[in-house]
Amino acid sequence: MIDIGANLTNKRFEKDLDLVIDEAITQDVSNIIVTGTDLANSQAALALCNSHTSLYCTAGVHPHDASSYNEETHQTLALMLKEENIVAVGECGLDFNRNFSTPDEQLYAFEKQLLLATGCQKPVFLHEREAFDAQYPLLKKHRDNINGGVVHCFTGNKHELLEYLALDLYIGITGWICDERRGKELQSIVTLIPDNRLLIETDSPYLTPRTLTGKRKKAKNVPANLGHIAEIIGELRKQSVGHIKEITVKNTRSLFNI
Ligand SMILES: [Zn+2]
Repeated sequence: MIDIGANLTNKRFEKDLDLVIDEAITQDVSNIIVTGTDLANSQAALALCNSHTSLYCTAGVHPHDASSYNEETHQTLALMLKEENIVAVGECGLDFNRNFSTPDEQLYAFEKQLLLATGCQKPVFLHEREAFDAQYPLLKKHRDNINGGVVHCFTGNKHELLEYLALDLYIGITGWICDERRGKELQSIVTLIPDNRLLIETDSPYLTPRTLTGKRKKAKNVPANLGHIAEIIGELRKQSVGHIKEITVKNTRSLFNI
């Protein structure tokens, strides 16, 4: 399997990163795409990839950090995106749930990153929370110029899912789907994702699947938990876990060109 989204530069991995990566490999997670969330963090992610052969990363600025996005950020990212180990632009998008950056700052940073994706022809790694109505038109406007993308950690409704699929985007499913309350709607619509658009991710160290048992349930989330998410998705879609693993690896390789 390949975990398409793990925040391995997070402080919570400072002490046990090598252990976490080794454990992932023993649990059949052969590759991990490390999420970049701001400029410094994307640079850290790249350094990590360059010292671990099983890792790739994204480079970009999360909507929470959009206020930090300026022309210098833009130019630095444009240069970084030439690196082979950086396989996507992002995470980028809009998050009106908490507005850590103002909506205007978020719109600016997002569109600039869509232009970066146009320039480098690498896919976009999208984040969106409570901002579908603003995010969608921008994506639509640039869709013909960008080389695909994934709506990472999709948690929206049926209408939003179908609209993203209509833009021919991939859908990233996390352990959110294991949540018996928050994940209810997602559980009922995960069947609508075609085999060739499904991707899986942990979003470690966040979103520990609530269906895990024992000490894993209480611990931070790790890429080694990806197989559990694949199992739950398989049960909901009435497909074998082997099938979920097979299609998601194929989709990951195709989208990120790895
Ligand atoms: Zn995100």
